Amino acid sequence: MNKPKMTTEKGVPSNSRVLMLLGQLEKLNGEAVLSDAEVSRHITSKILHLIQTQEKTRKEITAKGSSGMEVILASLESTRDLQTILNILCILNELVSVGGGRRVGVLVSKGGTAILLQLLITTSKEWPPSEELMLQLHTILAKVGPKDRKFGIKARINGALNITVSLLKQNLQNHKLLLPCLQVLRVYSANSVNAVSLGKNGVVELLFKIIGPYSKKNTSILKVTLDTLAALLKSKANARRAVDRTYVPTLLAVYQDWHRNDTRHRHVHIRKAILGCIRNITNIKLGRKAFLEADGMRILYSTSTECLSVRTLDPLINTSSLIMRKCFPKNRLPVPTIRSVFHYQLPHIPAEGPVAQLYRQPPDVDDVVDESDDNDDTEADTENDTENEEDEKNHKTQVARGGASGSASARCAAGLGFEYLATDWSPVLGVPLPPATLYCRNDDIETDISKLRPKENLTRPLEDLKMYECFFPELSENFQGYSFDSSKSCQTPAVLPKSLAPIVVPTAHAPSPLSLAQGELTDLPLDLDSICISKDGPGGAGGAGEGLAQELERVALEEDTLNGQSQSPVVGSLQGELEHDDDCSSHSSGELGVLEVPDTAALLPLHDPELYIDMVKGTKSVPQYTEVAYPDYFGHVAPTFREHILERVYGVQRAKIFQDIERMIHPNDILDKVVYDLDLKRSPVIDDGESLKFNSQFESGNLRKAVQVRKFEYDLILNSDINSNHYHQWFYFEVSGMRVGSSYRFNIINCEKVNSQFNYGMQVLMYSVQEAISGHPRWVRTGTEICYYKNHFSRSSIAAGGQKGKSYYTMTFTVTFQYRDDVCYFAYHYPYTYSTLKMHLQKLEALRTPQIYLRQDVLCETLGGNSCPLLTITAMPQSSSNDQICQFKNRPYVFLTARVHPGETNASWVMKGTLEFLMSPSPMAQSLRESYVFKIVPMLNPDGVINGNHRCSLSGEDLNRQWQRPSPDLHPTIFHTKGLLQYLSSIQRVPLVYCDYHGHSRKKNVFMYGCSIKETLWQTNVNAAACDLQEDLSYRTLPKILSQLAPAFSMASCSFVVEKSKESTARVVVWREIGVQKSYTMESTLCGCDQGKYKGLQIGTRELEEMGAQFCIALLRLKRLSSPLEFRNSSHFLDVENDLIESRCKVTSSTTYVLDEDEPSFMEEVDYSAESNDEPEPDPDPQETPADEDGLSDSELALRRS
Ligand SMILES: [Zn+2]
Repeated sequence: MNKPKMTTEKGVPSNSRVLMLLGQLEKLNGEAVLSDAEVSRHITSKILHLIQTQEKTRKEITAKGSSGMEVILASLESTRDLQTILNILCILNELVSVGGGRRVGVLVSKGGTAILLQLLITTSKEWPPSEELMLQLHTILAKVGPKDRKFGIKARINGALNITVSLLKQNLQNHKLLLPCLQVLRVYSANSVNAVSLGKNGVVELLFKIIGPYSKKNTSILKVTLDTLAALLKSKANARRAVDRTYVPTLLAVYQDWHRNDTRHRHVHIRKAILGCIRNITNIKLGRKAFLEADGMRILYSTSTECLSVRTLDPLINTSSLIMRKCFPKNRLPVPTIRSVFHYQLPHIPAEGPVAQLYRQPPDVDDVVDESDDNDDTEADTENDTENEEDEKNHKTQVARGGASGSASARCAAGLGFEYLATDWSPVLGVPLPPATLYCRNDDIETDISKLRPKENLTRPLEDLKMYECFFPELSENFQGYSFDSSKSCQTPAVLPKSLAPIVVPTAHAPSPLSLAQGELTDLPLDLDSICISKDGPGGAGGAGEGLAQELERVALEEDTLNGQSQSPVVGSLQGELEHDDDCSSHSSGELGVLEVPDTAALLPLHDPELYIDMVKGTKSVPQYTEVAYPDYFGHVAPTFREHILERVYGVQRAKIFQDIERMIHPNDILDKVVYDLDLKRSPVIDDGESLKFNSQFESGNLRKAVQVRKFEYDLILNSDINSNHYHQWFYFEVSGMRVGSSYRFNIINCEKVNSQFNYGMQVLMYSVQEAISGHPRWVRTGTEICYYKNHFSRSSIAAGGQKGKSYYTMTFTVTFQYRDDVCYFAYHYPYTYSTLKMHLQKLEALRTPQIYLRQDVLCETLGGNSCPLLTITAMPQSSSNDQICQFKNRPYVFLTARVHPGETNASWVMKGTLEFLMSPSPMAQSLRESYVFKIVPMLNPDGVINGNHRCSLSGEDLNRQWQRPSPDLHPTIFHTKGLLQYLSSIQRVPLVYCDYHGHSRKKNVFMYGCSIKETLWQTNVNAAACDLQEDLSYRTLPKILSQLAPAFSMASCSFVVEKSKESTARVVVWREIGVQKSYTMESTLCGCDQGKYKGLQIGTRELEEMGAQFCIALLRLKRLSSPLEFRNSSHFLDVENDLIESRCKVTSSTTYVLDEDEPSFMEEVDYSAESNDEPEPDPDPQETPADEDGLSDSELALRRS
């Protein structure tokens, strides 16, 4: 160390006593090492005295700019005199014992760690070392260690580990020395390499000599010992060692002892530290086995239940439950295979596709419980940890910050242009771009922005695209000879010339949902072409006069043996029972009377039960459903009351987990009675009145199995998407046979996402048929004690993207039914079936006025044989004059799509709002129609919707990942929707706006994703500003307008980053390939809003439909803003730089494999851990002082956190 010059602040000579002394000390350091020991002893003892008596002195030495600490350390380094060393150590101890961590920080920053460790080595060689010296030295090291990130490595390299360990061994009874040594050891152990090395040297066994039964004495020592042990047990080798030495039962016995004796809860921190050790041992499989063999489940369960009433003991209960969940033996889901119950034979199976993979596996391997879990398979590696692991980590972070991305930005900063290569285009959010991704060229980027644009890449030849011409008759229509007075005028758009029709349009059935005239019904080549009431209704068990259950006969379609016979009698009987209010009330005092349906026509202009049944008849499902769910039949009138986001009740998750653990503790209480099972040919007949009845064999239903676990508790398993073995999230099922006033707990046990809005106030939706027939046909948010957590059902790696050791998640909710003999439905979100869409489209036709140009076509047929509707909406020209026709033909296109993901029903409700607005007679709607031509595909995935899928189509694939290369056979709706867009592009009529409506399961509010090169580059750390990249910022205008118009819309949640993983989504492909600059995904929350007018409320269909209407109004405003007259005023919409900066600061997390989202991954503040392997609390706070350890700091801390 260089000889520091003693200076004071600002270099002004001071008359301070201590500074004078330090000056003298400094002089001594400058002289020969063997200077007069007496003098240095004298000076240091004087300084010590001053420090002990005056806080002022301590301040002077450690003040900013003072070199006092340096002088003291230099003396310590140079002196060989024991007394002087002791004096200096005392000085240092005094200095750092108060004033918090700052003074320790000064000591560390002046190189104190190395000097102290060196001193430890040197003095240990002079055996026997001075006990006083070792005491002082370890006391100060115990404080320095936690403040020095590299302490563990430095100690190991210096050889200090063994010195402390031998000292411990020699002084197990010497409590005065034991405590600081253990404290230092605790810091050593925090380093994983040290932990392995200490374990090899017998430190685990050594620590177990200190751990003993309950005693009020030496609790500080015990606490540090346990913390050290817990740190060591993080090493798998040490955990194994502990298992081998049978320490698991020992720890459990010690825990029970403290639990029994610490009746006044003075030592919660010790009890928690014991649990910390058990927790770490049970991270390995052997540890969990030992824990179960030692009856750990029962011990922790009973101790925890005894703690439940004392809030300060929560940390113990939480850690116990964590351990128990981890050790709970993993079960298989009680299904024969996790593949979907239903199989759909694809026209061909691409060899590399997911379906081929799925069916290539031999039976029964798809659901193997992976024995290797929690990374156990890597345990051998732990012993070989490199010495430099921390350095490596640092190195990695540096690379991530300034490595590859740095070089890319450097190249761009050098003024080089660059462009994306379509084949190798991969900006990944938050991940540095590989250098190959960007190609820098010497093009002048400033004068040719289009160079930045991806090349339009028409994969289909122009002649091929001609087939879409017939879907755009508005471009050739001249309206000559048209009577513009006629109210029928708008029905004229040309019928498709058959030869031009590109797609196999079904001729025998459903030529178009809307042209389905009554007379044509007999042409339907379906099995379901007649309708009758089936007698296997839900109320079979009810006695006479029992009420609704018996009378509520299922609305069902049944195969009519008299195929082709007139429909009307059968439909008529339905009407008689369910619709004709007058008839029913007059002629039936009995069972038919209760089936009166309230006249909702006024409230639900687009709903018509009779029409719904007609529509269902044309809907083809893979399971060939013959039943209709009441909610879809009756319709849904949004409630007028507010539905608040639920406040989370404390301890719900814990209580649920304990109930789950009780299944293992008290196995005899478990019924395990299967009450519904799609895997069986015949569902079990449950008629004993002791169980609920389940059903979901109707459109969009997807319950696979229901198991009665306890009297009022059911485990439910959702079916996988067809031709898939996962994607469980959406649910829709029926329950009947309930008792009034009892609380039923429902657990959906095969959820896959790591977290859910069900943990943040979202409720399930329930529809009561009793409520419906008493005048309130509606879905309402229902359920208490809702939570979402990882469970003990093992998830096969085949269904978890290859990751082993994954578990499913449970979504649990509790419902108390209000009505006797009700039939209730539960759903993930407001259902919206394909048949409902068809009904709505047909009813929309009735809203047509002479001013409206409305066309409905069948774009194509789906794999499942259902037609995919395409709508064209604009305004009729006012006359057939040239300029009117010209204006008509030159309106820009707005292209909208929705519901590619079947589980995102909210997207359909938003689309409904859009369609209703577009068809409305209001001047604003008319103005909008006069401004644009709307091309709308309202349901991109009818098959998925019909069959109750959550994510996929019948091809077992996410259709929103197929836009780059859609297959005409496997993804016809995407292939042809893209074809329409490609056609528009080929005739230079690229749409002004494209928007795909989606639902978002993890975020609140409504928001948009758009595409911006600049913002993408920013997110990927390439310094776009340095590139002087010019980009038209108008992609922000529409979301900006929406954020001002629509209360549910949040600009802050929008993102304009293009991620590699989203490369094949509609939004990105339409932007890159078609060249639509304003290409968006609009995401609506499934939960609710946390800002704006709807803050704190769950979202309902009213708000969703409103959103769809406001989207239209925003388009109108967009048009006005872009007109030359108003352009000047539009600048306030484009205060983009601020927005950009905001969005740039947004933090995004890395994606984990669960379900592919359309949106950048998002990490909500998780304060309700759904992960059983989450560390409930960080490691013992390294900054805590020994004084804290005697208090209740841990539990207090935990309380503060909870
Ligand atoms: Zn989606």
